[in-house]
Amino acid sequence: MKLRTKIQLFTSFFMLLFILFINASIYFLFYNNSVDGELDELTEQTFTIIETLNENKDIPPGELLKAFIPSDGIIRVYPAEGEPNIHTKDSHFLKLPGKYSTSEIREVITYEGDRYATVSKPIIWNDGEIVTLQLSKRLVALEENMTNLFYVLIIASIIIIIPIIVAGHLLARFILQPIKSLISTMKENVKDTNWKKTALNNRSKDELYEMEKTFNEMIDSLKENYEMQEIFVSDASHELKTPISIIKSYAQLLERRGKDNPELTKESLEAISSEADRMQKLVEQMLALAKNKNIHSSEDVNVTELVEETTEIFKGAYEREFEISKPPKEFYVHGNRDQLKQVFYILIDNALKYSDKKVSLAIEQQEANIIISITDYGAGIPEEELNRLFERFYRMDKARSRNTGGTGLGLAIAKTITNSHGGTITVESALGEGSTFKVILPVTL
Ligand code: ADP
Repeated sequence: MKLRTKIQLFTSFFMLLFILFINASIYFLFYNNSVDGELDELTEQTFTIIETLNENKDIPPGELLKAFIPSDGIIRVYPAEGEPNIHTKDSHFLKLPGKYSTSEIREVITYEGDRYATVSKPIIWNDGEIVTLQLSKRLVALEENMTNLFYVLIIASIIIIIPIIVAGHLLARFILQPIKSLISTMKENVKDTNWKKTALNNRSKDELYEMEKTFNEMIDSLKENYEMQEIFVSDASHELKTPISIIKSYAQLLERRGKDNPELTKESLEAISSEADRMQKLVEQMLALAKNKNIHSSEDVNVTELVEETTEIFKGAYEREFEISKPPKEFYVHGNRDQLKQVFYILIDNALKYSDKKVSLAIEQQEANIIISITDYGAGIPEEELNRLFERFYRMDKARSRNTGGTGLGLAIAKTITNSHGGTITVESALGEGSTFKVILPVTL
């Protein structure tokens, strides 16, 4: 079933139920009030009869009662035993059910399809016996009124339900129009991947507007991601092509001239092995980049300790001078220890790769952040290159960084991890003097 039909059916059905409930309440309230009114009137009449009987003890009660016979009813006097004394103008009422009762009763009885208001009251008769005076009156006007009310309510319901159906129709159209246009935009996108956005209608900023806006934002973000993936795949395949072609040409060389030239064999095997290592590193780093978009399990990490620990690894491997300045207080960052360690590893590794003097590290707190600076005194980076350093596969000097084993992915990985920890990386550099990379992370206080 279409959403439009559902909305229409639901609103109409719900409103119909509501109208039925209201009308039924009106109908029964009116009925109860009218019946109460009739019973009150009859009760009052019984009082009048009793009063008249008491005041005119010398007149036979049978005669007096004749004066009170209702036009559409009957008066009966039931003794405890024996036949009742009956007064009516219409023999039709003779068979109306009635009985002797010692307590007052007010009721509506149904007899042969007609309703009768009946009031029974015990009274003392002129012979001293206790009898029941029973007045019954056919509710002719009430029946008529109730029938009229019934038709009035039915007509009123029909008159009300028409605008409700129209309103349901308009509501369905109002809600569905933006949804329909969104669906058609989505279908076009599925068919052609053309990143089409939906036209934002200039109406009040309701949920539907919010939905369209969010859809457009989603398209923007998908497009951006898709383009980035495309660039990544083309960059990655380009980067992998070089080692593969080197391996292939060395293998061909080996095949042709390797048998009689042991020196060439050695050189080729070394080159093949080194290119294979490079490919392995490249693939590992690409995987790391894909993996590090989210923090994998987090804890409070002692950053001071982590920076020192990472420096120790390099101290053992290289004979280079390291200088660390840090306040006595230790700083903690909420995040993943291994991922954060990778950031410092990449930055210290670069500082060592791209300079041959000492490397300085500094830890300091600035308001709610901790700043870890890694400074080298190497060739530095030209200003126009600074912005591009963090792009994937970006290397300033491809030939040189090939020698240093660079893939151009290190800083991109460092940036991704730092960002996922709510932090940023900045770089300052002066040509011929060196560079400082700063990792700024929110500190856990
Ligand atoms: P790579 O694997 O090539 O080192 P990175 O993403 O870590 O990749 O670095 C990208 C480029 O930025 C490097 O190729 C290098 O040219 C430049 N670079 C990074 N760190 C430094 C530094 N400390 N000094 C000078 N150049 C740097």
